[in-house]
Amino acid sequence: MPIDATQPYDPDNIFAKILRGEIPCKKVHEDEWALAFHDIAPQAPVHVLVIPKGAYVSWDDFSARASAEEIAGFIRAVGHVAREQGLVDPGYRLLANVGPNGGQEVPHLHVHLFGGKPLGPMIAR
Ligand code: AMP
Repeated sequence: MPIDATQPYDPDNIFAKILRGEIPCKKVHEDEWALAFHDIAPQAPVHVLVIPKGAYVSWDDFSARASAEEIAGFIRAVGHVAREQGLVDPGYRLLANVGPNGGQEVPHLHVHLFGGKPLGPMIAR
């Protein structure tokens, strides 16, 4: 079920539980600002989620409230993961779903990183 991206942060969402180590993930990177792990239902040969460590519902919330340090740390982490996964040469796609029209289901900001094959049209037809 898509979520309302303007809702208050829910500390019991599934990615908050992953950040607290209450449920497992297949981690690919962690630093002060971000955690990256494999999507549980991959939609491409490489499908990694990168999430900020702070409590932000969506890209909208993050871009409005996060500090400059948090934003820089998160953006750098996304780039780091793409390089670490060998995605830069062949190319890759970033996606952040926001709210109902975006189809966002988990109310903690996450950037999808897709790669490993030509990904086709930007929006499903
Ligand atoms: P979105 O529609 O952008 O909110 O995407 C949520 C993504 O989270 C989907 O691609 C799910 O497959 C993924 N997901 C949900 N639960 C987990 C989990 N426990 N571990 C890894 N990925 C998950």
